[in-house]
Amino acid sequence: MLTWRDSAISQGTKVHQQFRVAMPEPTNHLFEVTLDMTEVAVGSPLLLKMPVWTPGSYLVREYARHLQDFQAWDPRQECPLPWRKINKHTWQIETDALESGDPLKKIGGWLRVSYRVYAYELSVRTNHLEGTHGYFNGAALFLYTPAGLNHPYTLTIQPPYPDWQIATSLLKLSNSDETETFWAANYDELVDSPVEVGQHQRIDFQVLGKPHQWVVWGSGNLDSQQAVADTEKIITTTAALFDGLPYSHYLFLIHLSADGFGGLEHKNATTLNFSRLNFHDQDRYQRFLALVAHEFFHAWNVKRLRPVALETFDYEQENYVQSLWFCEGATSYYENLILLRSGLITFSKFLSLFSEAITRLQKLPGRHIQSLSESSFDTWIKLYRPHENTPNSQVSYYLKGSIVCALLDLHIRYLSQGSRSFDQVFQLLWQQFGRIEKGYTDQQLQQIFEQVAQSSLQDFFADYIYGTRELDYDHYLDPFGLRLVGKYSQNPPLPYLGLHLASDGSNKISHVDMGSPAQQAGIWAGDELLALNGFKVNPSHWLERLKDCAPQQAVSLSIFQQQELKTVWLPLGLPRADLYEIEDLPEISPEQAQLRQGWLGDPSTLLTL
Ligand SMILES: [Zn+2]
Repeated sequence: MLTWRDSAISQGTKVHQQFRVAMPEPTNHLFEVTLDMTEVAVGSPLLLKMPVWTPGSYLVREYARHLQDFQAWDPRQECPLPWRKINKHTWQIETDALESGDPLKKIGGWLRVSYRVYAYELSVRTNHLEGTHGYFNGAALFLYTPAGLNHPYTLTIQPPYPDWQIATSLLKLSNSDETETFWAANYDELVDSPVEVGQHQRIDFQVLGKPHQWVVWGSGNLDSQQAVADTEKIITTTAALFDGLPYSHYLFLIHLSADGFGGLEHKNATTLNFSRLNFHDQDRYQRFLALVAHEFFHAWNVKRLRPVALETFDYEQENYVQSLWFCEGATSYYENLILLRSGLITFSKFLSLFSEAITRLQKLPGRHIQSLSESSFDTWIKLYRPHENTPNSQVSYYLKGSIVCALLDLHIRYLSQGSRSFDQVFQLLWQQFGRIEKGYTDQQLQQIFEQVAQSSLQDFFADYIYGTRELDYDHYLDPFGLRLVGKYSQNPPLPYLGLHLASDGSNKISHVDMGSPAQQAGIWAGDELLALNGFKVNPSHWLERLKDCAPQQAVSLSIFQQQELKTVWLPLGLPRADLYEIEDLPEISPEQAQLRQGWLGDPSTLLTL
């Protein structure tokens, strides 16, 4: 079938916005960008803007801060055009001197803009250029005119050396000895298509009749053949859920870095950053596969199936959304479910990952303060900008979102006696919203859940998504013959103090639980822990020393606070559970076993078998 896009290209639709990206000296970390605009109205000031954020990463990053050497001119007359910045990310160009292609109508002006962008931040949502490769995200590189957002673009890329290859999910139009030219239907597609240029490993493979590419920059202990084989399973399993693949082709772009971790989703691609030597260890490799499954799942959830607030992106400011608990939380829940259904993790591994997530959440005092919908709405100022009080005041919509989505799945399975599940929620949402890329409202999202559950979920949403009520795990686990057991990670259990040392091995306190004995004694983040009961504290032996003390015993702690030596006395609290594990109930009925099998799909339904 010929798409609009194919026919537009084949009919030679004239493109009036043409980008060219060169990187003649990669070690200066500067991308050289040229934008040619034709059909410019003569006499009207032209505004060019740089996005302040990129979809998928909800933080204002001020990409314009890396732009330099801006110039504008009329190539026909080779004359510069006056311009000035009118705010942090907008350039205004005066076009009075522009020669018009059609003097009567004052249109058809040809305007060229050039600038350079400094690129030395290796992350999936920024730009990176150095001696071995160049990588860019369109939102961090390309200026746009508001009027041109919905019109097509061409992108010509000039690698610096003949042996540097180009990888992108954009459609290739042509190539010459020195350049390759690609096509984007509009600005959204242009910035949703990351580009990798350099020497990289590339594997082409087909799944369900569609071409996929696996491109790796960097070296490490990744076995790409094995990873591609496992990724094929992830693709097939996810496609089975949504009844097909929503794209014509897909690119997996992997950056092997020193100690990075992260992924960014796109409609027809994903960029994954993973620590280069972390592929041999089984748990870490499974973490990598979960990252692959997560970002790939986004090809549906959030890239095509989106909340109405993300239906049309506003690149100039924050786009407020209350339902990132669904976009990211459900995706995080399904990343492990997809691995389980693909045979890439066992069901006991799946449950242990679920238990670990619960342990992380239950350690956060902030779960009593911030709801999931608030976490989502405020992501622009909170989730991406953590500080020492974050554990006390926030929850992550990834973490709690994934747990709440798991409980929703269990609830629907229980209410329907195993005949329906979260899968049907996704299938209905896909049919009604995702397939046609119509945004859903928060009310419509809840209604779809209720339609599948065939029951009101008003209390569930009010308590767990819009409220901060403690999650009643056992209520939802019990019908599956499971329960949550709180345990102590240390033996004997640690008396409760509520201070946490930094993970860098120093004696710096990273954060203190609000309401804890440490906080009430005046200890806070940034203090240096020196001595317990008058004896020097060694961070590596700190917990052992604490075990020597009895709960409710008064102890002295010596600290440096703002470089001032202080000693405080405080009573230690009773031990608190700091490890949660999902376990079998002592007795499991056939109904419970059957429900569990429907969820986890494993015939050996008992954890203890
Ligand atoms: Zn995600």
